[in-house]
Amino acid sequence: MARITLQNVSKSFGGDAGPWAVRDFSLDIDDGELVVFVGPSGCGKSTTLRMLAGLDEATSGTISIGGRDVTQLPPKDRNIAMVFQNYALYPQKTVYHNMAFGLRVRGEGKAEIDRRVRAAAASLDLGHLLERKPRQLSGGQMQRVALGRALVRNLDAFLLDEPLSNLDAKLRVKMREEIATLHARLNATMIFVTHDQVEAMTLGDRIVIMRDGLIQQAGKPLELYDRPANTFVAAFIGSPEMNLVEGQLVRESGKLSVRAGGLNLQLPEKAFSESEQDVVLGIRPEHISIADSSPVLMNVNLVEQIGAQTYVLGTISGHKFRAVLSRKDDVVPGQTIPVMLPKERIHLFTRSTGRTLR
Ligand code: ATP
Repeated sequence: MARITLQNVSKSFGGDAGPWAVRDFSLDIDDGELVVFVGPSGCGKSTTLRMLAGLDEATSGTISIGGRDVTQLPPKDRNIAMVFQNYALYPQKTVYHNMAFGLRVRGEGKAEIDRRVRAAAASLDLGHLLERKPRQLSGGQMQRVALGRALVRNLDAFLLDEPLSNLDAKLRVKMREEIATLHARLNATMIFVTHDQVEAMTLGDRIVIMRDGLIQQAGKPLELYDRPANTFVAAFIGSPEMNLVEGQLVRESGKLSVRAGGLNLQLPEKAFSESEQDVVLGIRPEHISIADSSPVLMNVNLVEQIGAQTYVLGTISGHKFRAVLSRKDDVVPGQTIPVMLPKERIHLFTRSTGRTLR
């Protein structure tokens, strides 16, 4: 497996002037790392993956795999495998022959093919399925065959483009766990594309969040959760999403606080630069809790019981807020509940740019 580097990679489908599907994408992916590209539809994640695979040509920038500049190389010379949504298995061939096919066209000897197919099948737990046809396999097994086809070829990396998007919710979770287990076992460099933030959070060693062709932030899952770079990342990571309310940063009688209409929250000293006054205040629903008594009151509009948790939708000083409480059987719409918004959990963003205020 190998290290992958993208340097200022851009892609325009309409000539050099743009519009840019991907702009100035730079990233180092470590040997054995699992990196997830995530973002809303059209943000450029598939295009980036296709440029890595050589299926789309980069308009500018360089791509190297294992220290080798592959920017101008065709897909077959890049030594990486792309696994698609539909797995693209040959329906008439057995699992064995699906996995052997790539080696046969490369002219490998029969004995060598057999050795590699059986080794890959063993590591993917497919040994007992080698004589089956794809239609006799579950979605998860098909996925493993698709990976097996790549595995037999000693490739540098696996690229997976929304491989779970055709599966139902339960199977998705199961397959997600399988991919994580497989990644741990194979120690392979993997790039995984999804629009699902939970998938990104649970699978990625590192996550790259994209929007409009631009990287918004790249980092470990909890780094993005704890220290989102801007309001887009703040709202994208975490479910239900972070509460965001426009307010003002004020210092009065020596105390720093954020104010949004009647809501006034004291802030930790020195946590924020005081260069901006127009801010967006952010707090995650799970960081709001019920207090015995509090000057901050929430009017409850809607209660959703999830089981272990209770989701409460309501207003605080006229602003919409969502709170995720550990199970509360006795919260009902129409109630007013005292709540706590801990100051160390408050995020502030500059209103004009959306960037985190530090
Ligand atoms: P999705 O989750 O919907 O697949 P994505 O994040 O993978 O979205 P891309 O498929 O990379 O997004 O598309 C990025 C942008 O490039 C979009 O605006 C898309 O319309 C455009 N685009 C993609 N492929 C082409 C193409 N072959 N020709 C022209 N424009 C394209």
